[in-house]
Amino acid sequence: MILVTGGAGYIGSHTVKHLLDNGYQVVVADNLIYGHYEAVDSRAKFVHADLADIISLQKLFETNKIEAVIHFAAFAYVGESVKEPEKYYFNNVIGTLNLLNVMLMHHVKKIVFSSTCATYGEPIYTPIDENHPQNPINPYGHTKLMIEQIFSDYEKAYQLEHIALRYFNAAGCSADGTIGESHTPETHLIPLVLKAVKGERANIQVFGTDYDTPDGTCIRDYIHVEDLALAHRLALEKLGTYNGCVNLGTGIGTSVREIITAAEEVSGKKCPVEYAPRRAGDPAKLFAANLKAKEILGWKPSYTDIKEIIRTAWNWELNRRY
Ligand code: UDP
Repeated sequence: MILVTGGAGYIGSHTVKHLLDNGYQVVVADNLIYGHYEAVDSRAKFVHADLADIISLQKLFETNKIEAVIHFAAFAYVGESVKEPEKYYFNNVIGTLNLLNVMLMHHVKKIVFSSTCATYGEPIYTPIDENHPQNPINPYGHTKLMIEQIFSDYEKAYQLEHIALRYFNAAGCSADGTIGESHTPETHLIPLVLKAVKGERANIQVFGTDYDTPDGTCIRDYIHVEDLALAHRLALEKLGTYNGCVNLGTGIGTSVREIITAAEEVSGKKCPVEYAPRRAGDPAKLFAANLKAKEILGWKPSYTDIKEIIRTAWNWELNRRY
């Protein structure tokens, strides 16, 4: 049995589905603050639990034969983390420490962790490889880096087997349209562009057109959520042979303007655009060097065309269940 914390969230729910499709038994623990119960595959066992609640965690480990953990449960709004760091340090760091302590009590020493390219901070060079210095520029990134550091110390002291996956920009939705991206509030570019295309919002604000990039807008590396899900299963299967971090990105940079154009092509509709000032803390260019994921995990993204990624998100946007 694999425990997936945060399995009702965006990337978590896609990973749960992927694990089940590949023959794994899964128990999901989620506090449903940001997650959606409807996103949890009915083949998985669901436990409504918060990582702050050690008693519930202990019960979870006593009543399920857990062999390994995939740990997504975290708050992930960068802006909120700046305004309310206490919430982030408590939920993300203390929550993880509670989880690790209960794991060790039950002799469970395998964990795959949802980390982020936000641990690198302002890039010194691109593409960003795993040796790039880690200098996060917000509390969210700090919490994720701290957890990576905790893993490395727990490995030395308690033989914890760990792989931290540092994602770039998760995007798209399940190809079969059953689950997808749903955040409240929504802050991510692709769902906001699609809502503007649909007429659910007046427009998309483009945050900055004067960046040092070919079209002046920011460049990001958008990776399909099902490619992320696959990487989590591969990492799970590699635990014990490799400890450390792996970037997950396509290695391809796409600008904000290119996203808008691709969304217009996929939907066949115009996207109303408003040009706005830069958003604080946004680097001009972020994209991954993904050789390590290929070498260590044997992983390769199947979605490398941004239009195909957006097509899955558009399909979800038109038929969303939650
Ligand atoms: N962005 C934008 N308008 C929006 C939301 C995002 O122009 O309403 C830009 C943002 O500046 C960044 C890119 O889109 O360059 C991706 O932002 P998102 O919040 O989706 O992910 P992030 O890269 O911040 O994790």
